[in-house]
Amino acid sequence: REAVCRYCYLSCRQISRPWGASRAAWRSRSTNPAADVSSDQAAGGVSFPPLQTYSEEESMMREAVKKYAQERIAPFVSKMDENSTMDEEVIKSLFEQGLMGIEIDPEYNGTGSTFFASILVIEELAKVDPSVAVLCDIQNTLINTLFAELGTTAQKEQYLSRLTTDMVGSFCLSEAESGSDAFSLKTRADKHKDYYIINGSKLWISNAEHAGVFLVMANVDPSSGYKGITCFIVDRDTEGLEICKKENKLGLRASSTCPLNFDNVKVPEKNILGQIGQGYKYAIGMLNGGRIGIAAQMVGLAQGCFDNTIPYTRQRVQFGKRLFDFQGMQHQIAHVATQIEAGRLLTYNAARLKEAGRPFIKEACMAKYFTAEVATLTTSKCIEWMGGVGFTKDYPIEKYYRDCKIGTIYEGTTNVQLSTMAKLIDKEYDS
Ligand SMILES: Cc1cc2nc3c(=O)[nH]c(=O)nc-3n(C[C@H](O)[C@H](O)[C@H](O)COP(=O)(O)OP(=O)(O)OC[C@H]3O[C@@H](n4cnc5c(N)ncnc54)[C@H](O)[C@@H]3O)c2cc1C
Repeated sequence: REAVCRYCYLSCRQISRPWGASRAAWRSRSTNPAADVSSDQAAGGVSFPPLQTYSEEESMMREAVKKYAQERIAPFVSKMDENSTMDEEVIKSLFEQGLMGIEIDPEYNGTGSTFFASILVIEELAKVDPSVAVLCDIQNTLINTLFAELGTTAQKEQYLSRLTTDMVGSFCLSEAESGSDAFSLKTRADKHKDYYIINGSKLWISNAEHAGVFLVMANVDPSSGYKGITCFIVDRDTEGLEICKKENKLGLRASSTCPLNFDNVKVPEKNILGQIGQGYKYAIGMLNGGRIGIAAQMVGLAQGCFDNTIPYTRQRVQFGKRLFDFQGMQHQIAHVATQIEAGRLLTYNAARLKEAGRPFIKEACMAKYFTAEVATLTTSKCIEWMGGVGFTKDYPIEKYYRDCKIGTIYEGTTNVQLSTMAKLIDKEYDS
C-alpha cells in the first residue's frame, strides 16, 4: 500500500520532496566534523557540539571570573551604586586578574586569550555588577581592539602595554547633536604642520572619570562629510581637554559617563590611529563586535537577577505553599528562563561567528536587541515575584531593573539594531 504522509496527508511518492537533497547533504556533512566547524568545536568526538561548549581555557576563565566577581566585586556593588563611583580597588583588581587585556598578546602584558573568552568574562561580571562589566567590555571590545588592529608598533608599545596593566581607555564618538546619527559629528581637527588642533565636544563618554587615554573621532575635512572622520589618540593630561561633571543616571551608576570639551587641543600627527578619513569605518567595525559584548552584559545581568530571585520564591510561603509551587509562578519562571537561554545562545552564536571570520553583523544586532528585551522582562518579573521586598534596596533586584535599561540605548539603540537587521534581510532577498 502507498504510504500517506502524516504531515501533508498526500501520497508522498507522488510529490517531490525539496528537503530531500539538503537532508542528504546535512547527513554527509555531519559525518565529517572538520567540514564546517573549528577544531575546538569539533573536540570531544562530537561533530556539532552544543553552542555552550567551551575550550579548556574558556572554562577555566569562566570559573575563575565567577569566583573573583563574588569575592572581589560583590562586596562593593551596593556602595558603588549608592555613591555613583567605581571603587579604585575594583579597577585595580580587574587589571591584576588580566581582565583588561583579554585578547591582547602577552608581548604587551595581555592575557592572549580569545574574543569568546571576553564574552564569557563580561557575562560573569555582569551577573554581579553590570557597571564593572561595561568597564571591562569597552576596554576589551573597543579600545584594545582598535589599538591592536590599527596601532603602529610605537603606539602599541606606548598604549597597549598600559591598557592591559593600569590604564583605562574611553571611546569618544557621540555628541550632543549626533547620537544615532553618529557620523554627523561636529568635532573637528585642523591640520597645522605635523600636528592637529581639535575643537568641539563629546557627550556620554563611559569610563571618562578614570580614563588615561581617549580615542576621539573628529573630522579633519568636514567638506567631505563623514569621509573626513579620523580617530585620534588623546592623552588625558593634554592641555585644553576638559572632562566635565559626570551624569547622574538611572542605572549603571558606578560607571562614569561624562561630557568632554576640546578647546584647542593639540595632538601630534603620530597620534592618528589608523588612516586619515577612515574613522567612520573603524567605529562601525568596532561597534559591530562591541554589540556582542553588550549582549553578553545583558545576558549576565538577566541571569544574575534571576539567580538572586529564585531562592526567595523557593523559601517564601503564602497560602501554605512556596511561591515557586504555584503553577502561575512556575510558568512565568520557566518562560523567563527560556528567554535568557535563547539570549545566551544568540550571543554565543554571534561571538563564534565573529571568531570564525564569518559574517556576524545581523546576528550581533539580533543578540543585542533580544538580550536587552530579555533583561527588561527578567528584571521586571523578578521584582514582581519578590513582591514588596523586590521593590526595596534591601535586595539587589531593583538595581538590576535600573541597570538593564541602558541595553536598549548604547552602542546603537534598539531601533538602530532593528534597522540594520532589516537592511541585511532585504539584501538577502536580492537574488
Ligand atoms: C550610559 C551611557 C553610556 C554611553 N557611553 C558612550 C561611550 O562610551 N561613547 C560614545 O561615543 N557614546 C556613548 N553613549 C552614547 C550612546 O551611544 C547614544 O546615547 C546612543 O547612540 C543614542 O543616541 P542619542 O542618545 O543621541 O539618542 P537619539 O539618536 O536622539 O535617539 C532617540 C530615539 O530616537 C530613535 N531614533 C533615532 N534615529 C532613528 C531612526 N533613524 N529610525 C528609528 N528610530 C530612530 C532612537 O532609537 C531612540 O529611541 C552612551 C550613552 C549612555 C546613556
